[in-house]
Amino acid sequence: MKILVINAGSSSLKYQLMDPETKEVFAKGLCERIGIDGRLTHKVPAKDAKYEFEIPMPTHAEAIQAVLDALLSAEHGVIKSASEIDAVGHRVVHGGEKFASSVRITDDVMAAIDECIPLAPLHNPANITGIKACEKVMPGVPMVAVFDTAFHQTMPAKSYIYALPYEYYENDKVRRYGFHGTSHRYVSARAAAMLGKPIEELKIITCHLGNGSSVAAVDCGKSVDTSMGFTPLAGVPMGTRSGDLDAGILEYLMNKHGYDMKEMMNILNKKSGVLGISGVSSDFRDIENAANDGNQRAALALEAFQYSVKKLVGAYAAAMGGVDAIVFTAGVGENDANTRMNIASGLEFMGVKMDAAANNVRGKETVISAADSKVKVLLIPTDEELMIAQDTAAIVKG
Ligand code: ADP
Repeated sequence: MKILVINAGSSSLKYQLMDPETKEVFAKGLCERIGIDGRLTHKVPAKDAKYEFEIPMPTHAEAIQAVLDALLSAEHGVIKSASEIDAVGHRVVHGGEKFASSVRITDDVMAAIDECIPLAPLHNPANITGIKACEKVMPGVPMVAVFDTAFHQTMPAKSYIYALPYEYYENDKVRRYGFHGTSHRYVSARAAAMLGKPIEELKIITCHLGNGSSVAAVDCGKSVDTSMGFTPLAGVPMGTRSGDLDAGILEYLMNKHGYDMKEMMNILNKKSGVLGISGVSSDFRDIENAANDGNQRAALALEAFQYSVKKLVGAYAAAMGGVDAIVFTAGVGENDANTRMNIASGLEFMGVKMDAAANNVRGKETVISAADSKVKVLLIPTDEELMIAQDTAAIVKG
C-alpha cells in the first residue's frame, strides 16, 4: 500500500509517501511560503536525492498539486499514476473530546474538526485547508484524520479537570487535552515491543523532548496524564514556550508593563522557555555550547528544563504506582545524551540506573539503562508519519 501523509501548517505543508507495512519512504518533502510565493523541497531517499523548486503556491491547493506533480515527475518522481496513492492520512492537531482515535474523513468529521477551531485557532484551520486541498486535487481518494489529542482522551477526569468553576469545563470545554499524542502512542508501543512484553502489562513514562516538549504517563497502553494542557503552552519549559507558571504572574506583568493579552501571550509563547532564561537561543545545541563556554544563564536554562522533566517523571511514577520504562524521544530526547543523563540520574531510589556508555548514542532504538536497572530507560526515535500511515491503512482496509 502507498499512503500519502500530510501535515499542513498555516504556510507550510510536510508530506511523505510511504508503505506502512515495509516502512519504506518513497519520497518526502516540504512546501514552504504558501500564500507568499512558494518553495518545494522534495527528497527521494532511495536515490539519496534532494530537489528544490520555486513554485507559485497562492493556496494549499497549489501546494498539494506541486507535491503530486513532484511524486509523478519523470525525473524525480516515485509513482507513475496518482491512482497508486491508496489513501491520504492527515495530521490534525485538535480533535477536542470528539475523537479518541483516528477516523475516516467524512462531511460529519470535517464539521467536527471545524467545531474544534476555537480550541486550536492556529492549527485546525490549516489542517482543514490541507484536507480540502487534497479533496480538490485527488477526488475520491480515501482520507483519514489522525489527531494529536486523541491518544490522551483516555485520561481520567481527575487528570484533565482544572480546578476552575466546573461550568468552564461544561460550557467552554476548558480541560487538559494534551498534545504530541501520536508520538507518545508510537514510542510507548515501540517500548513494549523492545521489552518484549504486552503493553497492557507496562507502566511507561514517555518524554517527547523537542522544540515543543511534553511528558506522558502511559499505563497499560493508555495515556493517564500528560504535561501539555488546554493548549501546548503548558508543562515543561520549551524552546520558546514558558510551560507551567503561576497565572498571577500574568496580571502582575500586564499591570506593571502595560501589556495587553496579545503581547503577554506572545511573550509566553515566543520569548520564554529556554530562550527566555538563557537569552541565547531556543535551540538546545546553541544553549549547550553557550553553557560549555561558561554562560551561566544558558546553564540555568538547561538545568531548569531537565529539573522540570525529572519532576514529572517522579510525579507520573507516583500517579501510576510505579514505572517499568522511561522513554526519550524527539529532537532533544533522541540526540542529547547529557540531557537524558541529567534527567535520569538521581532517580536510583526508584530503580533507575543509567549506563553512560550505552547512553552515548544518537537517534536509534536502544536501551540506555544499565543491565541491572529495574526501570528500563529507552531511546526511541519517534515516527509520527509512520503512525499516521499505519492508522490510515488500517482504517481504509476496514
Ligand atoms: P519540533 O518540536 O519542532 O518537532 P524536534 O523534535 O525536531 O522539534 O526537536 C528540535 C530540537 O532538537 C532543536 O531545537 C534542538 O534544540 C534539538 N536538538 C537536535 N539535535 C540536538 C543535539 N544533538 N543536541 C541537543 N539538542 C538537539
